[in-house]
Amino acid sequence: NKDINYVYELFLNVFSNPNTQITDIKVLQQAIKRSGRRMRIIGKPSDEVEKTVIKDAFPRPPPSKSELKPRPPVVTVMGHVDHGKTTLLDALRNSRVVDQEFGGITQHIGAFLVTLPSGACVTFLDTPGHAAFSAMRARGANITDIVVLVVAADDGVMEQTIESIRMARQSKVPILVAINKIDSPKADIARTEKMLVEVGIQVENLGGDVQAIPISALKRQNLDQLTEALILQAELLELGGDPTGPVEAAVVESKVHPLRGKVCTVVVQRGTLKKGNILVAGTAMAKVRALKDAVSNPLSEVPPGYPAEIEGWRELPQAGDQVLQVESEKLAREIIKFREDQKQKEKSEIELKAIEEKIQQHERQYKEKLQLKRRLGRFRMKPEGPRKPEIQTDTDGPPSLPVIVKADVDGSLEAILDVLDTYDSSICKLDLVHYGVGPVTENDLEMAEMFQGVIYAFNVDVLTQIKQDAEQMEVPIKQHNVIYKLIDDVKEEINARLPPKE
Ligand code: GDP
Repeated sequence: NKDINYVYELFLNVFSNPNTQITDIKVLQQAIKRSGRRMRIIGKPSDEVEKTVIKDAFPRPPPSKSELKPRPPVVTVMGHVDHGKTTLLDALRNSRVVDQEFGGITQHIGAFLVTLPSGACVTFLDTPGHAAFSAMRARGANITDIVVLVVAADDGVMEQTIESIRMARQSKVPILVAINKIDSPKADIARTEKMLVEVGIQVENLGGDVQAIPISALKRQNLDQLTEALILQAELLELGGDPTGPVEAAVVESKVHPLRGKVCTVVVQRGTLKKGNILVAGTAMAKVRALKDAVSNPLSEVPPGYPAEIEGWRELPQAGDQVLQVESEKLAREIIKFREDQKQKEKSEIELKAIEEKIQQHERQYKEKLQLKRRLGRFRMKPEGPRKPEIQTDTDGPPSLPVIVKADVDGSLEAILDVLDTYDSSICKLDLVHYGVGPVTENDLEMAEMFQGVIYAFNVDVLTQIKQDAEQMEVPIKQHNVIYKLIDDVKEEINARLPPKE
C-alpha cells in the first residue's frame, strides 16, 4: 500500500509535470533505477534501442609550417558607438571590392574581400561591434586575425573603445587603430593618440608599435593606407593557411534567400572550397551548388583566408558553426544523424536531471510527511471505547489537559502541534485527543465533552449554533489568531489544572 501511494504521488509530482516530458524510455528506466524503488515499467517501449556508433567529423591536426601559404588577414572592426564602424565597412565594401569591373552591387553577406592594386587582399567581417565578435568567439570560432579599432578623432577614447581593447587583448588579437572623422572640424588626432596611450595602446607616433591610421570613412580618405597597414601587420604575423586537403571553414552569417534558398557566408580556414564539395556544419549539410562573393560574382575556388557565400544547404547552419568537408553525402548524412542523436541524448540528460531533482524533492516531502505522522501518533491517545477520563491527580502521575485543535490550514496546524510538542512536560501532560483543519464541528464538541477537554480554534470561525451547544455542554472553545497567544492560553489552562503549590 505504501508503495502504491508512493508511486501514485511520484507520478503526480514527477511525470505529470509539464516541464518533464519523457521522450526516451531509457530516461524513465534510469529515473526509476536511481530512485531505488522497486518499480517496473509494464509494456514495451515503442522505439527499438539502437546501438550507437560514433560517426562524427573532426578537423585535422594542425598543419606543419612548411604546408602554409600566405593568406589574407581576417579583420573585425570594433569601437565605440557612432565612431564610424558601419560607415567604414560600407566605404571599404563599396570602394574596393574585388572585380569592380563586373559592376555588381555589393551586398551585405557577412564578410567581404578588399583587394589593393598590388593584388594583396584583406578579408573584413561585415558585422561591426563587439557583440558579433564575442558571439563568434563564444561559439569557438576565433577567426579574427586583426582588430581595427575605430576611434573618432572628435570624441577620443570612450567606454566601448576600452571594452573593445579589453576583448581584443583577451583573445590575443593584435589591434590596429583607425583614427576616424579627421575631416571633422573638431578632430584632434594628437589628443586622441594621447588618450590611446593612456589606455595602454602605444601608438607609433608616440614611440609605440601600434599603427594608428588617420582616416575619414565618410570622405573615403586614407582607406588604401588603412588596408596597406593591415597587410603589413599580417606579414608581421606571418599568417599562413594550408590550401590542401579537406576544407575547414567558419560560418559568419546564414540566411534563407527567397530565390537561392538556404545560403551562408563562410571564411575558409583550411583546404580550398570548390563547387560540388560535400559539407557538414552542425547538423546541416550541403552539396555546394554555387560559391559567390559580395558582388554576387561566381567563385570557382576559395582558398584559406577568403570569404564566400555558399549555396546548396539542405538545412540552415548557424553563425559560428564549424564547416567540415566530408567524402560523401552518405557519410554527411550519417554524421548529421549521429550529431542529432547526441543532441537528443543531451536533451535526455537534462530531462533526467530534472526528473531526479523532482524525485529527490518528492522523497524529502514524503519523509517529512512520515515524520509528521509519527509525531502526531505520539500525541494521540486512543481510548478504548468511550470513557470519561478523569483529570489525573498527582497520586497517579501528572495531571493531563485534553485538547482539540482546529486550524485554518495545514501549515498553522503543524506549527501549533510543533509548539505543543515542546510543552509536553512531566508536570502536566498535554493530551491531544483530536486535531484537524476546518471549522469547529459537533463532533469536536462531543469529543471535548467526552474528554473534558478544551477546543482551540485557530483562525477558524465558530458558528453561533456551535457556540450555543458548547455553552450547554460546558465545553470551552478558545478562538485565537496568533499562535503564541494560543500557546499562552494553553499554558494558563495547564497552570489552572495543576494542584496548588504547597
Ligand atoms: P557606428 O555606430 O560606429 O557604426 O557609426 P556609424 O558608421 O553609424 O557613424 C556614426 C555617425 O558618424 C554617422 O552620422 C556617420 O555619418 C558619421 N561618420 C562616420 N564616419 C565619419 C567620418 O569620417 N567623418 C565624419 N564627419 N562623420 C563620420
